[in-house]
Amino acid sequence: MSRSDAESDSDYSLPDDLPAVRDALVSWYEEDHRPFPWRETDDAYEILVSEVMSQQTQLGRVVEAWEAFLDNWPTPSDLADADRADVVGFWTDHSLGYNNRAKYLHEAAEQVVSEYDGEFPRTPDELQNLMGVGPYTANAVASFAFNDGDAVVDTNVKRVLHRAFDVPDDDAAFEAAASEAMPEGESRVWNNAIMELGGVACEQSPKCDSAGCPWREWCHAYETGDFTAPDVPTQPSFEGSRRQFRGKVISVLKEYDELPLSKLGPRVRVDYAPEGEYGREWLGGLLSDLADDGLVEVEESDSESESETVARLRR
Ligand code: SF4
Repeated sequence: MSRSDAESDSDYSLPDDLPAVRDALVSWYEEDHRPFPWRETDDAYEILVSEVMSQQTQLGRVVEAWEAFLDNWPTPSDLADADRADVVGFWTDHSLGYNNRAKYLHEAAEQVVSEYDGEFPRTPDELQNLMGVGPYTANAVASFAFNDGDAVVDTNVKRVLHRAFDVPDDDAAFEAAASEAMPEGESRVWNNAIMELGGVACEQSPKCDSAGCPWREWCHAYETGDFTAPDVPTQPSFEGSRRQFRGKVISVLKEYDELPLSKLGPRVRVDYAPEGEYGREWLGGLLSDLADDGLVEVEESDSESESETVARLRR
């Protein structure tokens, strides 16, 4: 893997071709992502409500509560005018966690009306003046509402950066790597994209291949097979990961002694298609890694009806 020299005061390095790394992630995200409704809005109030709700509740369950909340109180001034007991009651009815969050949200709406003339402040610093809004939430609102935030660093992002670029488990290193990776002025799409990567591909059990992770060609974990992360201290299960398929190649070859690629491929993965994304080329790459590691031998053979590449375990 080609990597740029680490900056003198950091002990990680992002790949040399950072523009390609960024493009790959943003294209992957834009092609398909979970359609959370707060991703379709740039209204700071609506985004703040989604952020506060998702602090303690699974995203899938937040959707219904978020829509109902905004039906009840569509603007900061509607919320400011509400009875606090009603807002807290709503929170309880929808099992959204600590009631204090509802109280703070109500108070923040009052501040927006009384201190900011009904217009949300735009910068992370100012947003932190709002009741209950800490640095993470302020940055999320600045990013998603105003495209003017810093790189988000949460558990998912740390896991991605640690695996992909071998960023050490250290908050300062994560902050530095996350902001270096983010393309300037694109916090909205970038933060959404990297959080999505951590949410649907680079999960605790990574789904590198099955989720089509766009960073496989640069990823340190994918290359080495070490998928541990700060929140995953021991090797996770490998559903869809390259390591899993390496293991499958070995176990199939143990059973059959040697096999041509046309017979090995379908035994390694059910969606094997010789000319497809997971076809001869993909399998060839896997075998060549295994050959480099001294585990298999690969050679051309004429023993079948036509010449074909054959793989066997190295004894
Ligand atoms: S290749 Fe796998 S481990 Fe690496 S970033 Fe993608 S999902 Fe995570």
